[in-house]
Amino acid sequence: MRQVTIRPMLCPEDRYGIKCPFSRTPSRVVIHNTANDAPAENEIRYMLNRPEEVSFHFAVDDKEAVQGLPLDRNAWASGDGRGVGNMEGVHIEICYSLSGGERFQKAEANAAALTASLLKQYGWGLERVTKHQDYDGKYCPHRTLDLGWERFLDLVRQELKPAAPEEDRDAWARRKEKERAGLPASGWAQEAWQKAQESGVFDGTAPRAPLTREQCAVVLDRLGLLPARDPNARAGVVL
Ligand SMILES: [Zn+2]
Repeated sequence: MRQVTIRPMLCPEDRYGIKCPFSRTPSRVVIHNTANDAPAENEIRYMLNRPEEVSFHFAVDDKEAVQGLPLDRNAWASGDGRGVGNMEGVHIEICYSLSGGERFQKAEANAAALTASLLKQYGWGLERVTKHQDYDGKYCPHRTLDLGWERFLDLVRQELKPAAPEEDRDAWARRKEKERAGLPASGWAQEAWQKAQESGVFDGTAPRAPLTREQCAVVLDRLGLLPARDPNARAGVVL
């Protein structure tokens, strides 16, 4: 799972009454698009300064996530009053959705990584990833919906996948040796390699495989270079 940098720019407590009056335990993630072209920091600053009851927990752009509200407090984001969206959602705004393009796609990917880390942190399944639209019908997150909601969920799934285990050094060395063994014979060895096959010393496979002591003994024996162990066993020798 990728880690997205989370920069806190938290709401001052004397603004809680407007921005996040209720202490709560969150139960879900709610995804939004800003319908704007401002970076995350600006979205959070604007959200905190405006006098209305409008608020959300995170704004995510192509570089970072900026957090404006504590997660154990509600937000005013999903238009459902004191419904489960506002009261229980962790609200994530994805930046740059007005114009879209590459920085929006990066922001969306970062939001997917942030969402995955929240699911992991709270022990939630993918069914806890919801969209603003689920609470008051508003077409938000607009561009994420245009591009496909399942596609966004797939981005979260990808982030949740455990990383492939790293190959251990021994396995790596064995694989490399096998790859190397299968290469054709080197130019300087080709003639000898050909002769070795024709004379039956080697069968022509794995020209660059290392030779073990036992294989070496068999090669020497095939070439008739080893003295007989027991003269009595020699063919043709009659006592
Ligand atoms: Zn929304």
